[in-house]
Amino acid sequence: MPKEVKAFACSFGCGRKVLTSRKAMEAHEQTCAMNPERRACKLCKNRTIEHLKLDTLGCYQTVYGCSKGAVPYGATMHFNCAHWACSAEAIPA
Ligand SMILES: [Zn+2]
Repeated sequence: MPKEVKAFACSFGCGRKVLTSRKAMEAHEQTCAMNPERRACKLCKNRTIEHLKLDTLGCYQTVYGCSKGAVPYGATMHFNCAHWACSAEAIPA
């Protein structure tokens, strides 16, 4: 019989697995790309492209484009963007 433990999930719904340490999850939330305070591509209305590109190690990476031209094509993620606009659709219910 497994032992039940208390765990913490990201309140921004980024899909990260739960952590048993509240402090560790609070630290994650500070850097989470779904945290509106981070003004990241992942939660931006101006994000135009999201597809996969093969990196040098042969792993697929998410690539973001920007309708405001704030992110150079091929950049993986941009934070604290001056052109950032919250995308309500990107926030899971
Ligand atoms: Zn998160």
